[in-house]
Amino acid sequence: MGSDKIISSYKYLFNYFKNSKVDIPVNTNILLDKKVFYDDARGYKIAHIESINPIKFKGIFKGSYGIISQATCFREHKAPDLDCTCGFHSFKNIEGAVREVSKKWSAVLLKIENYGRIIEHTSGYRSQEQEIVEIIFQKNCAKVFCSRESFKICKFLGLYLPLCKKHSEKSGESYSLLELSNLTGIEFSFLKII
Ligand SMILES: [Zn+2]
Ligand SMILES: [Zn+2]
Repeated sequence: MGSDKIISSYKYLFNYFKNSKVDIPVNTNILLDKKVFYDDARGYKIAHIESINPIKFKGIFKGSYGIISQATCFREHKAPDLDCTCGFHSFKNIEGAVREVSKKWSAVLLKIENYGRIIEHTSGYRSQEQEIVEIIFQKNCAKVFCSRESFKICKFLGLYLPLCKKHSEKSGESYSLLELSNLTGIEFSFLKII
């Protein structure tokens, strides 16, 4: 892990615990203009990939899910509830999720469709159901002190992360974006903005 990556991870964790936030993206907890609707809405979020076949995601701080999932709440009401923080959280705009993913070297960016009961917040949604439609990996190699361009997705430190050509050649398990699309039926790309 590069020193910049270590610092950004610690900064991120520090902010998380300082503000006792419950999920990513956290700034959707601004409840002032919350609004409920039943429809569909595009969202963006960040997660870890913990397995490829079948593909499984892990929330940055809690929860795990597959490509299509239904939200539940430990308080045993229907999720999401107006007076709770449950449901699948996502940003309305890609910029919010890009900002979060750039602070977390081990995360990937997910483009999702929200369905069912959706609570709209200032910058994001909480939804009853989510479907992942695209996975966007970070632009640079996840290996320590390496800033080369991402080439393949490899099993690295227990997660699936992008590595450069040189580092992916040494990896025991690696996939091209096309191989991942064929395996999972969804789209994959590398982030171009950061
Ligand atoms: Zn709840
Ligand atoms: Zn590398």
